[in-house]
Amino acid sequence: MGLKEDLRDRALELGFAGIGFTSADPLDLYIKEINSRPEMYQWVMSPRFNVLRGAEVTRRYPWAKTILVLIRNYHRRAFPRELIGIIGRCYQVDERKEKGAEHQRVMDFFAFLKGQGLKFRYDDEIPARMSAARAGLVTYGKNCFVYATGAMKGASWLESIPIVLDKELTPDEPSIELGCPSWCKNACVAACPTGALYSPKKMRPQKCIAYNSYFAPGLTDQKLREPMGTWMYGCDRCQEVCPRNQPWLNQTLPDNPPLMARAADFALHKLLTMDSAYYQKKVWPLAFYISRKKVARWQMNAARALGNLGDREQVPLLAAALKDNPDEKVRAMAAWALGRLGGDRARKALEAARDRENGLVGPEVEEALARAN
Ligand code: SF4
Ligand code: SF4
Repeated sequence: MGLKEDLRDRALELGFAGIGFTSADPLDLYIKEINSRPEMYQWVMSPRFNVLRGAEVTRRYPWAKTILVLIRNYHRRAFPRELIGIIGRCYQVDERKEKGAEHQRVMDFFAFLKGQGLKFRYDDEIPARMSAARAGLVTYGKNCFVYATGAMKGASWLESIPIVLDKELTPDEPSIELGCPSWCKNACVAACPTGALYSPKKMRPQKCIAYNSYFAPGLTDQKLREPMGTWMYGCDRCQEVCPRNQPWLNQTLPDNPPLMARAADFALHKLLTMDSAYYQKKVWPLAFYISRKKVARWQMNAARALGNLGDREQVPLLAAALKDNPDEKVRAMAAWALGRLGGDRARKALEAARDRENGLVGPEVEEALARAN
């Protein structure tokens, strides 16, 4: 057997859903796409992290000959009902900090590469989806996610893991194409709550809930607060509605007991009222894109989500946040949420805040009072 077959066998034996190979040549189509809309991608083009640099693998790794891509199915088990619509599925099983069995699978594969005498590097700057498509493992959806070609019932609940190798291996047949059925009338575009998917195959990151839940600085844009609904961290909406994902979603999968056990830690009322110790112990190790120091970011998201729940029983909690939270973004969002929920108790809390607040919060209180009824 050749090296390629050995690598393929080991990857499948370890439980990866797929493995493919492409050359280390620049990912031209990706570069072209980014360069056609640079104003949308400045945030991933800093000296520290630059996807265009990642798309030219040999710039950083002159010894690179091949990009090997692994496909990890992150939806092997069921997700807790309480977290659906709150935390994106991929983040619920992100083990990069906690280093569980999924992480070990990758480490075992790296050990195999080493045992084969290969020089290799994993680098998260390398565009993962385009690498996977060029390695023939996935096709694109109009929602900009990628869907497995030969595994996972064709679903998109996957992570592509590109690994640079120093060995030239025959590339697999690329599948850089759209795989959507002609009868689907862009359900993903229609379902995107914020209009981030502004046309088929085009997504504006700055309007995506994922970006706005953990990356965008400052107070969440007024226009996005309501459409963001109860999503706290990421968003799965355009994948959930997709017919290509229904075969995978409509099956009974085994439970994930450890994840089930911690789902309650992410209850919105707990996230709104948590202190730094709780955040660092219960939340951050799983969902770490928001800095360990920025508990207020989560609290702001929780206030917005609670406002969107439409349950006036949440008013006392939000009123307490408006009164006592030391962070003005949290207080401002609590005011917004009270305005959205309305009712006498909400109005009372907002009126009491009128005299105390100015700066960022004052106008939010006035605006919320104008809406609260
Ligand atoms: S992840 Fe959510 S907000 Fe982002 S494009 Fe998909 S549906 Fe829209
Ligand atoms: S919802 Fe329809 S158009 Fe969108 S990715 Fe799925 S199949 Fe393609």
